[in-house]
Amino acid sequence: MRVFDQNSNIFNLLSEAVSEGILVVNKDQIIVATNSRTNEMFGYETDELKGSSLDILLPPSHHEFHKKHVAQYHKNRNKRRMAHGRELFGLRKNKEQFPLEIGLNPFSLYGNSYVMALIIDITDVKEREREIHELNANLEKKIKKRTVELRDTVAELKKEIKLRVSAEKKIKNALQKERELNELKTKFLSLVSHEFKTPLSGIMTSATLVGKYKKEEQQEKRDKHLKTIIGEVKRLNTILTDFLSIERLREGKEVYRFTDFSLSKVINEVVYNSNMLLKIGQRITYPQNIEDVIIRQDEKIVNLVLTNLLHNAIKYSSEDTLIDLKIELGTNQIIFSVIDQGIGIPEKDQRHIFERYFRAENAVLNSGTGIGLHIIKGHLENLNGSISFVSHENKGSTFTVTLPLADANGS
Ligand code: ADP
Repeated sequence: MRVFDQNSNIFNLLSEAVSEGILVVNKDQIIVATNSRTNEMFGYETDELKGSSLDILLPPSHHEFHKKHVAQYHKNRNKRRMAHGRELFGLRKNKEQFPLEIGLNPFSLYGNSYVMALIIDITDVKEREREIHELNANLEKKIKKRTVELRDTVAELKKEIKLRVSAEKKIKNALQKERELNELKTKFLSLVSHEFKTPLSGIMTSATLVGKYKKEEQQEKRDKHLKTIIGEVKRLNTILTDFLSIERLREGKEVYRFTDFSLSKVINEVVYNSNMLLKIGQRITYPQNIEDVIIRQDEKIVNLVLTNLLHNAIKYSSEDTLIDLKIELGTNQIIFSVIDQGIGIPEKDQRHIFERYFRAENAVLNSGTGIGLHIIKGHLENLNGSISFVSHENKGSTFTVTLPLADANGS
């Protein structure tokens, strides 16, 4: 210690020139010299620390560790930072602890070993660190919160987009339906005006002529024209019934009545009525071996379906052709086929044939509304049946209808 006292001027001169605290201990850990920065840092007067054990500057919790550290340090003396990676604390005179950083410099003087410690009070640094840490933590919290908010917003936006897409789809569908409806209306009006014109002008002509045949012996002529009028009115009535039936089918209002009825009775009726429309040389063939067959179905619909198919076969075939009605009776179903040798359906029109008001390109010279097939398809579907066709232009068509048969107890 005396060595330092003797050289105190040099020590003071050197140690006061640096900004760090300087503290020198001998090998027994007794403080032999301090500079004023160290005294100030720990709260001691000049020279007050001299002769004290270093423990006075360490918090009690550090004593044990420090002892071990010193023993270790003497085994391997070199210049280094103390307790690198571990937080060090000093103890002020007023018992306040504060963080510090220490660099150790061993040296020998006149045969004695010393360690000079360079001490920096890092209270401010630690405070800054703590503040930064707190700021970071706050920032992280904020980021987390914002991320959650953002995720929620994205989810909401996605939901909104989905809703909008579906609304847009609905609007598009509605628009498309509206457009289709308008097209149908136009088609309907042109069909009605066209289809009504011919019978109405027929009625007009016949009615005018009836008025002209005044003589008693002209009764035959009057009867002929009256028959024409009745026929045309019937035709108008059928067209109107068809239009109304489309509406009923569309609204699902059709009611079906299942009864047991004689198959041959219906076939005879349908063929009888169709025969009246035959062109010259046309003939309808149909099975004769169905006398005793009773089936359970909606008789009116069976009649309607076969009437439509036979009328079409007649209408779209030329004179001297054969129309064949075939029946296949199974246990659970009945299959009707109507085969003609007529104009056929152009391939490009085939996929539209069951659409409302659709008429094939080659059919326009014949009167028609494009309703019949659409209606019977609707009925057949409602009854769990089906309709299909095979057709070749200028060769003929085969329409096939399948209908389920209810069992004896069913309805
Ligand atoms: P319409 O005969 O009153 O026009 P349909 O609904 O009965 O109406 O038939 C739709 C269309 O299908 C017809 O306009 C015609 O182009 C075609 N078609 C139906 N049956 C036949 C057939 N047997 N031969 C050729 N074309 C047919």
